[in-house]
Amino acid sequence: MDDATQRRIGGNEAAFRKLNETLRAGKPLADAEQLFCFRCECGVLGCNKLLELTLPEYEAVRAWPTRFLVLDGHEIPEAERVVERRERFSVVEKEGDGARVAVDTDPRA
Ligand SMILES: [Zn+2]
Repeated sequence: MDDATQRRIGGNEAAFRKLNETLRAGKPLADAEQLFCFRCECGVLGCNKLLELTLPEYEAVRAWPTRFLVLDGHEIPEAERVVERRERFSVVEKEGDGARVAVDTDPRA
C-alpha cells in the first residue's frame, strides 16, 4: 500500500473521528454504563455503520491520537493494527503516514 493511499485512509478516519467528537460533545459522563451510538471510524469507503460505546470506553480510545474505533473486521491490516478487540467494537492503531495524519488532525491536540 502506497503512502498516498495510507494518507487517504487516514483522512477518512480523521473525518469520522471529528464527527464522533461532535456526537460526544455535551454528553455528560454521569451514567458511565449507558451506551451511545458513534460512527465506525474505519477507512473503508462507503461504510456508514454505527457502533455503541459507553463514554468511558470512548474516552479511553480518544486519549490516543493515533487510535480509532472500528467494527470488528473493518480494520485495514496494511494501514493499521488492532490493539483491542471488544464485544461491540475494535480499536486500531495507525502506523506510518497514516499515524502522521492522525496526529496532525487530532481534535484534542
Ligand atoms: Zn466501518
